[in-house]
Amino acid sequence: MMEAAIMEQASSIPHVLIFPLPVQGHVTSMLKLAELLSLAGDGGGIRVTFLNSDYNHKRLIQFSDVESRFRKYPGFQFKTIDDGLPMDQLTKGEKVLDLMGEMGLKTRPIFKDLLAQMDPPVTCVIGDGVLGFIRDVSVEVGIPIIRFRTIGASCFWINFWLPEIIQAGELPIQGEEDMDRMITKVPGMESFLRCRDLPGYCRLSADDPVLARIVRTTRESSSSPPSPLILNTFDDFDGPIQAQVRHLFPKTYAIGPLHEHLKSRLQATATTSSSSNSLWKEEAGCLTWLDTQPPGSVLYVNFGSITVMRREQVVEFWEGLTSSKNRFLWVIRPGLVSHEEELDGGDEIPEELVEGVEKENLKVLVGWAPQEAVLSHGAVGGFLTHSGWNSTLESIVAGVPMICWPFFADQQVNSRIVSEVLKLGLDMKDVCDRRVVERMVNELMVEKKEEFGRKAVEMARMAKESVKEGGSSYENLELLIEDIKLMSS
Ligand code: UDP
Repeated sequence: MMEAAIMEQASSIPHVLIFPLPVQGHVTSMLKLAELLSLAGDGGGIRVTFLNSDYNHKRLIQFSDVESRFRKYPGFQFKTIDDGLPMDQLTKGEKVLDLMGEMGLKTRPIFKDLLAQMDPPVTCVIGDGVLGFIRDVSVEVGIPIIRFRTIGASCFWINFWLPEIIQAGELPIQGEEDMDRMITKVPGMESFLRCRDLPGYCRLSADDPVLARIVRTTRESSSSPPSPLILNTFDDFDGPIQAQVRHLFPKTYAIGPLHEHLKSRLQATATTSSSSNSLWKEEAGCLTWLDTQPPGSVLYVNFGSITVMRREQVVEFWEGLTSSKNRFLWVIRPGLVSHEEELDGGDEIPEELVEGVEKENLKVLVGWAPQEAVLSHGAVGGFLTHSGWNSTLESIVAGVPMICWPFFADQQVNSRIVSEVLKLGLDMKDVCDRRVVERMVNELMVEKKEEFGRKAVEMARMAKESVKEGGSSYENLELLIEDIKLMSS
C-alpha cells in the first residue's frame, strides 16, 4: 500500500528535459535555467535532464565545474546526443548554420527515440527555439513543449514580423545607401529601428533559406494555442516590447538575467557556487592583472564565442585601442581571426595579438576569460563587445557601459537598444576604422564616462531587483515552475 503511494508520488514528479543548440551562449543560459529548476525541485519537486551534444559535453566536463556543481541535485542528470557534425566542428563561427541544418536531419530521429525511452518519462520539454525539430518531435510524441529563446524580446519580435516586413517591400535592403531607412512594420519599434539594426540575416536576399527557416521557427510557435515561451530578459530592459509579445504569446515568461537570477537564489539558500559553464579553458590570470589597475580604468574587449574577424579588422581595433591611450584587456579566442584571411596575406597581425602581451597599461590574453568575473571586477570601466545577448546581460548586471560592434544575428538589434533606446553605450556597427575606435573609446572611457556610468549603474540596480523576491523575473519563474507542475500532473 505504502509502496504504491510512494510510486504514485514519484511518477507525478515533473521531469523536464532541457535541450539547447550546442553553442556556448545557448548552453550557458539553458544550464542556468536547469540549475534554477533543480534548486526549485529541492526536496523532490522537479527532475531535470540536460541534453547536450557529445562534442560540447566533453568540453564542458573538461573545462568547467558542472559535474561537481550539479552533483548536489539528486534529480538532475546529463544526457548526450550526436549533433551530426564532425568533431572539429565549432572552431569556426560560420559552422553554426551548418550545425542547425545537420541537427534537423541527423539528431532529430535520435532525439525522438531518446524521448520515447526516457525513464521516468519526460513530462515537459524545454527546447531551444532555434531548433524547430525539438518542438515538432515533442508534439509528435505528445509531450508538452516550452520554447526557450536565448535572444531578447526585441529580436524575437522582429523575427515574428519578418513576413510583413518583406511583404511591405521594406526588405530586401537596397545596398549601403538604404541602410538608414526606417522600418515601420514592427509594432513598438517604429521610432528607432533602421534597416541597419535588423538582425544580421536580414541582409540576405528575401528568399534565402536561412531567412525562411527563421521565419518558420518563429511563426510556428504562434500556432494555436501558441507554445509557452521563456525569454532571458527582464521588464525594465524591454518591458514595452514584452507587452507586445504577450498579446500573441500570452504564456511568455521573462525570467532573466538568468546568471544573476541563479546567483541570487543560490545566495538565498546560503549556497556558494562558482558558475562556470565554459567550453574553453578559462584563464583566470587576467583577474590578477586587473587587480593592479585603477578602479574603472580598463576597457574589456571580447567578441564572444562565434565572431570571426578579418585580419585587417583586428589591426584596425589594435591601432585604435593603442592610440586612444586607454588601458585595455583584449581577449583573443582561438579562431577569432578568420583562417582563410590568414592564408591570403594582407595586413600583418601585430605579434602582441598572436602571442599575447602583458604591460602596465594593457593586456592581450590569447584564450578564454572568466567573463562574468572580469566584468564585475572594479577595474573594468567599459566593454567593447560584439553585443551577444549573454554578454549584453552580463555587462548590464555588472553596471558596465558598452561600445557595441555587432557581428551577426540578434547582435545588430541588441546594439541599437543598448545605444539608442537605453543610452548605455555607443554603437559602432558596420564601421571598422582605427580613428572611430579611438574616438569612441575616449568618449566612453573619458568624455562621457560619468553620464554612461550613471545610466549603467541604474540599469544594473533594476536588473538585480528583478530577480529578487517580488521582482518581475522572480515572479515569472515562480509562475513557470507552477505551470511545469501543472503540465506534469
Ligand atoms: N565568454 C566567456 N569568456 C570569454 C568569452 C565569452 O566566458 O572569453 C562567455 C560570455 O560570458 C557569455 C558567452 O561566453 O556568457 C557568450 O555568449 P554571447 O551570447 O554573449 O555571445 P556568442 O558567443 O553566442 O556570440
